[in-house]
This record gives sequence, C-alpha cells and structure tokens, in this order.
Amino acid sequence: MAGNSWGRNAVPLCAGAVLGGALVLEVFVVLLQLRHEEGNGHEHKKGQPFPFFSLVFLLLVLGNALENARRFITASPSTRGVMLAGAGQGWDYCYSCQTHVPPRCAHCFSCNVCVLRRDHHCTILAQCLGYQNYRYFLCLLLHGAAGLLFGCLLNAKVVMLLQQEETTIHTVLLLVVPWLMLLIGQVSVPTFIYAFVTDVFMVSFLFCMGFLLFHGLLALRGQTTKEWFEENHQYDLGWRRNLQDVLGQRWYFVWLSPFISSPLPGDGITFQTKKP
Ligand SMILES: [Zn+2]
Ligand SMILES: [Zn+2]
Repeated sequence: MAGNSWGRNAVPLCAGAVLGGALVLEVFVVLLQLRHEEGNGHEHKKGQPFPFFSLVFLLLVLGNALENARRFITASPSTRGVMLAGAGQGWDYCYSCQTHVPPRCAHCFSCNVCVLRRDHHCTILAQCLGYQNYRYFLCLLLHGAAGLLFGCLLNAKVVMLLQQEETTIHTVLLLVVPWLMLLIGQVSVPTFIYAFVTDVFMVSFLFCMGFLLFHGLLALRGQTTKEWFEENHQYDLGWRRNLQDVLGQRWYFVWLSPFISSPLPGDGITFQTKKP
C-alpha cells in the first residue's frame, strides 16, 4: 500500500480508525463510570475498587490488536522488491505487472500489484492478505474479537443497571430494536446510546469471530479462500505443518504478542505440494 494507492485507501482506513477510536474511548468511559453506577443507591458499595485488572486486560488486548493491525498493513505481501527469477511449473504471467509470477500468487487490482500467496483484499485495512501478513491478520481478529466481547459485556452491564426499574421485555426490546424504542420515546438518550453501542460491539464481535473461524480453518487446511472455493487440497501438508507455513516456526506462541519473533519457513514463491 504505497504511492498513488493511498488516495483510494484513505477513506476506509480513516473511517475504520475513527470508528475504532470512538469505540475504544467509549469502553474506557464505561469502565470508569461503571464504578459510579454500581455505587448509586448502594451505600455499602460506594468506593468500589479501581477496575485495575479490567483496564490492564483492555490495554493488553488493544495494544496487541493495534500492533497486529500496524504490522498487517506494513508487512506487504506484494511482489514489489522480490526477485522472481524465471518461470517454472505452476508459474503464470501477469499482464498488468508484465512479469512471470509464482504459484498461488495473484494480481490485486486494488493494490495494483501481484501478491504472494494472495488470499483476499481487506477493504477495512486497505491491504491484501497474503504470504507475509497472514499471522498478523489472524492475531488481529483474535484480539479484536476479545476486545469487542469485553466491550459488549461492559456496555450490557451498564444497560442492566440503568434498566433495573424496567421489565425484562423492555430491556430485551431495547437491545433488539434500540432505534425504535428511542423513536417512540420509551428510552432516555443515554440508555439508548449504551444499548446501541452494545449492539455495535456484538455485531462486530460476531463479524470478527466468523472471519477468525473461517481463516483459522483455512490455515489448518493449508488453503487460501480461492483454493477453498476450488476444493484445491494440493498444499495441505497436515495441520501442524500448515500452521507453521503461515504463522512461522513459533506458531503456538504468536497469538500472545506480535513482538514474538516467528520466522516463516518458506519464501512465498515455492510451495511444497502433497504427495499424490
Ligand atoms: Zn500483477
Ligand atoms: Zn490488495
């Protein structure tokens, strides 16, 4: 993602950053306000302990997600600067890049370059998912899902506290159709905001989990999305080796932190195939 592609990528990147930033800020506000809400009307609960562990957990998950997102964007999986010497079996020719390209490599018309072991173009982060950044993509989804679930539970807790006087049906309706409840005057604006953000977190969490499960399964099977559609199993070398190929030699540790070094065993150009 460089040069003239920036203009095209700026809108989704900025929109994602603003939305993500707003949600993160909201969680911090909720986390600190929760003490106040829990203390209301409960004399013995006043002076709730500072939510130290929740804050540390949130900061760890957010830090992990942000650094994985940064590395996903900067670890370019493109063929720019990669020595592609000669054409062999399985190689193709890219008319846009005017060069021979190795197996599993495909041209991305959004990035305007060929991408090694290309999976798909991520519109939200404006970067292709390929050989170099698969690890960061999976870890970003994992930490993103954990952060979103945490934010969802915190917001839901505030909604429950604010709805103490109301019936269960009222609370359920508020969570299912918050806009309708606001329009017919059945809810105050602050309670509506908490309920709406709970829903946004829940939908985003389900979105992240869906992608995580699908791409986790693909990683286990040694396939890209295109190969999955084509039912191509020729690069499936067993789950352990498949995971090593995309997550690196320390595949069992990488989810802990993006700073853990885990060199990829291959070069993104040559791929071992399953013995017939
Ligand atoms: Zn190309
Ligand atoms: Zn792309």
